Amino acid sequence: MRTYDRTCLNCDAAFTTRSFSPRVAYCSIPCRFWPRVDVRGDDECWEWVGSRSQGYGQIGIGGGIGRAHRVAWLLVNELEPATFRALVLHRCHNRACCNHAHLYAGTHADNNRDMMVAGRFRNGWRPMFTDRTALEIRARYAAGGTSYRRLAAEYGRDFRVIGRLITGKTYRHLPMLGMPGF
Ligand SMILES: [Zn+2]
Ligand SMILES: [Zn+2]
Repeated sequence: MRTYDRTCLNCDAAFTTRSFSPRVAYCSIPCRFWPRVDVRGDDECWEWVGSRSQGYGQIGIGGGIGRAHRVAWLLVNELEPATFRALVLHRCHNRACCNHAHLYAGTHADNNRDMMVAGRFRNGWRPMFTDRTALEIRARYAAGGTSYRRLAAEYGRDFRVIGRLITGKTYRHLPMLGMPGF
């Protein structure tokens, strides 16, 4: 059978492939996989930069579509996809994250418990705006013409939550935008 000589786009190694397709441009699965992960600090989320489905990174692999975080776990731990049966779960609840330090192998029971904890967090406490929304609220208040209560109604939170955000008692890691002294 005819083979084609290629140079790996990631590691520059020479390899041969039986595929005519120029899409076969990497010598190995790790070389194809890791360039599509936004690798950051050890503690940070490493998000998949390729396509996603339901928030999960997707990669075409072994003739099918795999979830990127699962592939990350298999690669890092040198596991065989064919024999590895456990779920790969996120500690960080960021489905696109491929940082193995944020992943663990678990059971369906682990998954349900985690989703319950995450759900309680979301629905019960409602602890967080995204940073972007928090900044938006600060900027809008700083621009004038609105009030804590109006913003509270608009963003569906208690006015005290808005007040704490605007006066910097919460979201301390974000800039204050127009508050006196900043
Ligand atoms: Zn390579
Ligand atoms: Zn993460």
